[in-house]
Amino acid sequence: MSEIYDTVIVGGGIIAAAAGQHLTAAGYRTLLAERDDYGAGTSSKTSRLQHCGLGYLSAASGSITAFLAHPRSAIECFGLMRRSMQGRAEFVRMAPERVKPVSFIIPMMLENTIPRWKARLAFRLMAASDGGQVPLNLRILSAEEARAHPALQGMAGLEDIRGAMSFTEYQYHWPERIVVDTVMKARAIGMEALNHTAVTGLARQGDLWRVTLAAAEGSRDILARAVVNCAGVWVDEITAMAGAPHIRKNIGQKGTNIVLRLPEGMRGIGFETVTVAGAPFYLIPWGELHYVGPWDSASDGSPEGFRVTEGEISAILDQLGRLFPGFGLKREDVLYAWAGVRPRSLAKGGKGSAPAVREHDLSGEGLPNVFTFTGGLLMTHRDAGRRLTRAVARRLKPSGTPRPLDAPSPPLPDMDQVTEASVAHAILDEQACTLSDILRRRLSVGWEPDLGRRHAVRAAKLAAPHLGWTSEETAAQIAAFIDETVTEFNLPKR
Ligand SMILES: Cc1cc2nc3c(=O)[nH]c(=O)nc-3n(C[C@H](O)[C@H](O)[C@H](O)COP(=O)(O)OP(=O)(O)OC[C@H]3O[C@@H](n4cnc5c(N)ncnc54)[C@H](O)[C@@H]3O)c2cc1C
Repeated sequence: MSEIYDTVIVGGGIIAAAAGQHLTAAGYRTLLAERDDYGAGTSSKTSRLQHCGLGYLSAASGSITAFLAHPRSAIECFGLMRRSMQGRAEFVRMAPERVKPVSFIIPMMLENTIPRWKARLAFRLMAASDGGQVPLNLRILSAEEARAHPALQGMAGLEDIRGAMSFTEYQYHWPERIVVDTVMKARAIGMEALNHTAVTGLARQGDLWRVTLAAAEGSRDILARAVVNCAGVWVDEITAMAGAPHIRKNIGQKGTNIVLRLPEGMRGIGFETVTVAGAPFYLIPWGELHYVGPWDSASDGSPEGFRVTEGEISAILDQLGRLFPGFGLKREDVLYAWAGVRPRSLAKGGKGSAPAVREHDLSGEGLPNVFTFTGGLLMTHRDAGRRLTRAVARRLKPSGTPRPLDAPSPPLPDMDQVTEASVAHAILDEQACTLSDILRRRLSVGWEPDLGRRHAVRAAKLAAPHLGWTSEETAAQIAAFIDETVTEFNLPKR
């Protein structure tokens, strides 16, 4: 007989993880299934910012005529800024070891200069949104101070600069780990989680959903009272699987970042501006390097969309060259690059994307007790978990009793080092099954400047006895990890 769950979550990215943690804490008997590894989808392809939401505020404010023309969208943007500030305060206080403050600078030129009082008002509004819990540290620089700022040397038009704003953003050390942490917290309070297990079928059986799970060992069916679709850019494929291909809620938007070494003066400092098309453009410090982007382009969400193209790399280099002609950076200066496809909410009318982050109850659209989340972001993932839990609670009562959301967990071994203890913990306690699971998403070494390649052999040898790998399988895991790194990060093929 199939087991019956209250909720089955499709996907194992940050939104699925947050939904799993919140639903389990609310007493729902929950199973989460991820076809790859936790956090291996778009959640591993981000710009790694626990962003304060300033970008939403500028989108919301625009001009009075723009506001009056689209008041709904402006109000939505204000709401997103508030949620970003609240998500920032919640996460920075809850997991200070997973983030670090980074000082960002925005130059004010003739075309984007604003009076100081307006800048102060905007930051006051933002600070009020989280009750001033995590300071933004706004500093407004005069034209003279901006001209002398080390991070602005080499910038086009520096002689005509009107001033600059500097403030504090937070950056995740490694977002994949946040997904893993969240899944593990949910498991600690009773959620079942399966990685490398795809949902391949969804069909109605009486009042329940029959969910087919496929893994390397074979397929099996389980039953669920509700399905919570957190498959990111793939949510519409899941809805189609449930028999409703006409319901479309997502639109994919590809984003690309490139990694370079910038001049010494920029070390450790972030730079933020907007492109002529109005898209945000960042130079974000990463150790001694910076990643630059994101460069946005349309995507159909297919896996090919996750690969960086030469066209995208040269578009970012062009934009960087226009901003900082003094750097003289060329294609051969790009150390590596990555791309991801953002899940974005499809705008009403089915054309283009909306900034909104939304939970959809599809019961009224012919799919009883199916919930879909669109536009989900890392930086507001706990809010997403709460919203999905509220949506489910409007339809179903949990079969169990509430549990603590953030139960204290035993200390981890040092996950910044490849050691017997860290590799064993990744496999035995955190469900890592491949070398990539270990090096990229359980340990931080996958984000070292060589993207973890120097650790591959040692980590594979330490993993082999736990995972029963023969010497051929160990060699195949090493080769697969190196191949994946070369492909995903656009490294030259050797
Ligand atoms: C370039 C770029 C920069 C970004 N920068 C930031 C940033 O700085 N800050 C921020 O907060 N956000 C940022 N984002 C957005 C953020 O990364 C995403 O919105 C977020 O990670 C989406 O999480 P998710 O859980 O919805 O999707 P995903 O992480 O993609 O998770 C969905 C999962 O569903 C799984 N899945 C699909 N089909 C099935 C199936 N049939 N069975 C089982 N599993 C399935 C997939 O394998 C995948 O792992 C950025 C995105 C991009 C592309």
